[in-house]
Amino acid sequence: MKPFSYARPDDARAAVAAVGADPDAAFLAGGTNLLDHLKLGVATPSALVDVARVTSADIVEHGDGGLTIGAGALNADVAAHPAVRRHHPALAQALLAGASGQLRNMATTGGNLLQRTRCAYFADTTTPCTKRDLTQACSAREGWARYHAILGADASCIATHPSDMAVALVALDATVQVLGPDGSRRIPVAELHRLPDGDPTRDTVLAHGELVTAVDLPASTLAANSAYRKVRDRASYAFALVSVAAALEVRDGTVADVRLALGGVAHKPWRATRAEDALRGAPATDESFRAAARTELADAEPVETPLGGNGFKLDLVVGAVTETLRGLASTTARETS
Ligand code: SF4
Repeated sequence: MKPFSYARPDDARAAVAAVGADPDAAFLAGGTNLLDHLKLGVATPSALVDVARVTSADIVEHGDGGLTIGAGALNADVAAHPAVRRHHPALAQALLAGASGQLRNMATTGGNLLQRTRCAYFADTTTPCTKRDLTQACSAREGWARYHAILGADASCIATHPSDMAVALVALDATVQVLGPDGSRRIPVAELHRLPDGDPTRDTVLAHGELVTAVDLPASTLAANSAYRKVRDRASYAFALVSVAAALEVRDGTVADVRLALGGVAHKPWRATRAEDALRGAPATDESFRAAARTELADAEPVETPLGGNGFKLDLVVGAVTETLRGLASTTARETS
């Protein structure tokens, strides 16, 4: 492992200044992803700036279902918080679907958003990977691509973003608060992560030195009828082959409003706006749900490789979307009957 310095500043501004001053420095929060990458040689920072104690761990209620979650709030604490479970159940379900109890007790809200892909070649420095090094080829294109993208990828990278939480936050219209060397700004979570676009080395739109300090969840009656469904190879401690976060309002058998996001399909959590547009005003039936999912997948490009591809994800998305929306529609029907 490459030697690095370690600093624990007193506040967020000092942490931002420290990382901003050194192009090879990195923030350290829960460390559940970064420490693995240090040991594997995937991350080689010159300095680690510990932000675990300089960002808030509080979850602040705004009295109307709106919440502000400090970037230092642990995944386990967010998942268990009564206001999260009541007003944004998809978020609690997504967090509980991720990792293990031990990891959720260490992982922070900010760190969860910024975790890196679990593409096996990315973590193996003996294999070429464009995301690690722009001069190298992508090994997954001819290799093991079961967990890889079917939407928004390009020749440079077909990796997927691994966070369950981020998929729920995208569906729930969350926004991140960011503090950087040039001041603070807010970014919708749906715009925080990026597609590879020829440079997969960058996962997000954050500039070097910008620190996520909090996540805002808007007040929304729609969010109270939300859910997260994760399809994976085994029942626990596995990343999503496909996941769905959805919120739904049905009136008189018709979709009045809907939010839909997909995980395990792209380099970023995928907001399914085409499917949402197709669903609004449509009958709340399996037929509509399936048709909307297929509309979202119109531009999907699964890959086939000598080690097997990921074309099976097309049917998996259609099934997962349909089952998730069917469940939410039946909840609405029970509440209004
Ligand atoms: Fe690297 Fe992306 Fe290819 Fe995986 S899919 S090997 S992360 S370039």
